Amino acid sequence: MSDYRKKTSRPDNGYATRRPSSPNRGKKKGQESNLKAEDLQQQAQAREITNYVSERTFADFPIHEKLKSALAHKGYEKPTEIQDRSIEDLLNNRDLLGIAQTGTGKTAAFLIPIIDKQLRDTKTEAILVLAPTRELAVQIEEEYRSLSRGMNFQSSCFIGGTNINRDVDRARRRPDLVVGTPGRLLDLSDRGALDFRDFKVLVLDEFDRMLDMGFEKDVNRITSAMRNRKHTMLFSATLDKTQRNQIDRLLTNAVEVKVSSGEASNDHIEQDIIKIAEGENKFQVLLNLIDNPEFEKVLVFAETKRWVSKVRSQLSKAGIKADEIHGNKTQNYRQNALNAFKTGKIRVLVATDVAARGLDVEDVSHVINYQVPKTMDSYIHRVGRTGRAGKTGKAYTFIQD
Ligand code: AMP
Repeated sequence: MSDYRKKTSRPDNGYATRRPSSPNRGKKKGQESNLKAEDLQQQAQAREITNYVSERTFADFPIHEKLKSALAHKGYEKPTEIQDRSIEDLLNNRDLLGIAQTGTGKTAAFLIPIIDKQLRDTKTEAILVLAPTRELAVQIEEEYRSLSRGMNFQSSCFIGGTNINRDVDRARRRPDLVVGTPGRLLDLSDRGALDFRDFKVLVLDEFDRMLDMGFEKDVNRITSAMRNRKHTMLFSATLDKTQRNQIDRLLTNAVEVKVSSGEASNDHIEQDIIKIAEGENKFQVLLNLIDNPEFEKVLVFAETKRWVSKVRSQLSKAGIKADEIHGNKTQNYRQNALNAFKTGKIRVLVATDVAARGLDVEDVSHVINYQVPKTMDSYIHRVGRTGRAGKTGKAYTFIQD
């Protein structure tokens, strides 16, 4: 049971109880969530249970010395599970189906073999990385840049919400690695700035999310244009039957690696519900929670862009340093808000699901679901924003009683 109930606007009215609830509890008018209260409650387990420790270091890998130095510079000493189990097959050009979530080190798992090949080949082959969200695309390019520091490779990130003319110029310079979201990449191709046939290597990151977000047709257009593709790596957090056909069409004789470490389990996150009684001021409950100094870096999720803006403006009025990210904000705005959150300039970031996909922010102390998420997948993903990098975290979900 949460201690914070004492600090809420009404004394002991049953917040955060562990009483089993009826399946419909948490269902709000206009919101089709069928998550049960007991699904949203869990004591945190020590993180070590799910942590994987490799027996080797990157020094033992058959990769270029320059890459080894870059990895050491970044402080990556041992591979994570997905890296340990996939890098060698990728170095041998095997297609890969990687079942792994953000937080498992999947980005470096595909970037290490890519950079190794770029260092060895005299004529480097252009690489295309597809990501479902702008934030994930930016993070992938950042990781690429830091892992290829001083190697003189060019990369570009093409995402919506930025100036297309600038992207056209950058695309024409034919970067060695292109990361982007499907919509912007197709736009650049339609304008003749990018030719998918030039790319021989393809990475599809967060493929399940890509399908969830309705990018299936866009992805098909891009992949079918890459007729001379030699190597495909596909990562997905989940693997359900409906995706299987799609995946089989994209991969040839692929190695499958499924990792259980990292965020695949949320065991290290303490999860609880906070019941909001009828007529009670939900925002005040949030404020009372956040007032607690333990809530150092708080990610609040709301269901719609309007709710996100409303909660954020109420927080700002209450003197809490907060910002918001959702689809109506420009890429620049979202990136600035994210940086302010990362560096601690603001304490609370309010977000919609989609905007928060793939976010990699260290030290998020608490995740608060202002409304019950619609699906378990969405819940797991949100909650996984805390308790990263071997830490335990806390997640609370507000439930209308
Ligand atoms: P990803 O799943 O690719 O988003 O990575 C999650 C986090 O793990 C990122 O902050 C990476 O910088 C970090 N990371 C990736 N590989 C390693 C490694 N071998 N050792 C330590 N940290 C890593």
